Amino acid sequence: MDLSRQHLALADELAEALRRVLAHGRFVLGPEVEAFEEEFARYAGRRFGIGVGSGTEALHVALLACGVGPGDEVVTVSHTAVATVAAVELTGARPVLVDVDAETCSLDPVLVERALSPRTKAIVPVHLYGAPAEMSPILELARRRGLRVVEDCAQAHGAVYDGRRVGSLGDMGCFSFYPTKNLGALGDGGMITTNDAELAERARLLRQYGWRERYVSVVRGLNSRLDEIQAAVLRVKLRHLDAWNARRRALAARYLAALRETNLQTVRVPERGDPVFHLFVVRTERREAFRTHLEERGIGTMIHYPVPVHQQDAYLDLGYGPGALPASEAAARTVVSLPLYPEMTDEEVGAVATAVAAWGRA
Ligand SMILES: *Cc1c(COP(=O)(O)O)cnc(C)c1O
Repeated sequence: MDLSRQHLALADELAEALRRVLAHGRFVLGPEVEAFEEEFARYAGRRFGIGVGSGTEALHVALLACGVGPGDEVVTVSHTAVATVAAVELTGARPVLVDVDAETCSLDPVLVERALSPRTKAIVPVHLYGAPAEMSPILELARRRGLRVVEDCAQAHGAVYDGRRVGSLGDMGCFSFYPTKNLGALGDGGMITTNDAELAERARLLRQYGWRERYVSVVRGLNSRLDEIQAAVLRVKLRHLDAWNARRRALAARYLAALRETNLQTVRVPERGDPVFHLFVVRTERREAFRTHLEERGIGTMIHYPVPVHQQDAYLDLGYGPGALPASEAAARTVVSLPLYPEMTDEEVGAVATAVAAWGRA
């Protein structure tokens, strides 16, 4: 991925945004953040946006706002970025990890229901790779059992499920603006979206020392703020997000066509989902040979993710032994991400598609 292409194309707009911030001289939670919160919330289809310091902190603050804490359990997946699980643990709650569906690589609603206990407070579905999770059964289950749903939208800005953008399906949506995400800042940043005025207010208090006003803390909070420079940059980029996502879909269509001539598998997208291809992931039991095949043609690949969270050294004491989550472990063993970002040229995409097709049924 080459981010300089995007930033060169936007150089004038970005310079103007930075000049604006330098001129008004407020650098944290100022007018740019306020405007971006409103614009992004509208984009996601929600009334409120709360800017925070990162995607991890968006999840952390959202879960705290939902009242999640020590003694509680939060159900989520193991086949995700470690950040999802880290955010749950930051609240003091215990992450309960469930296996993914073998085809969608996303959480399996049947297994979620089985994992519920009287201590369960919330479910965190992850819209992995830019494809929405199968949300209907999760939302229905949460309603039935009185649970909160906090969406991890860090890879799916703009993805649609059942006619609605992700981040507008559960109680709260959590976004990351890490530079390589579909909407990326020039550093860290995050956003929480919600329609619930009370949850929004709590998240706003929590992100800044629990302050109702300066130096007056009404709850125990933390410091997780979005800064003005990032917000100004993100306002510029948000205007291009739909076009970038459209380009991602067009590139993905070329890869899908190339894959038809091969024995490589894809990751199934839920029927009601319209993905934004944060990543384009294929699956093969012969992953190393496939990566070498591409490498020999000058094409780099990555693995998202090589080790599921429950098998990471730091999380072994959660108590999931080998084979505990077989579909997650199989995903970690077989997934490989092809290069895909909006500024790729047609020639570059064509070269990757040709190399993929040349793998054939090897
Ligand atoms: C990137 C990512 C996060 C964390 O976001 P940061 O801004 O890096 O803290 C959380 N969940 C998923 C699925 C991610 O891809």
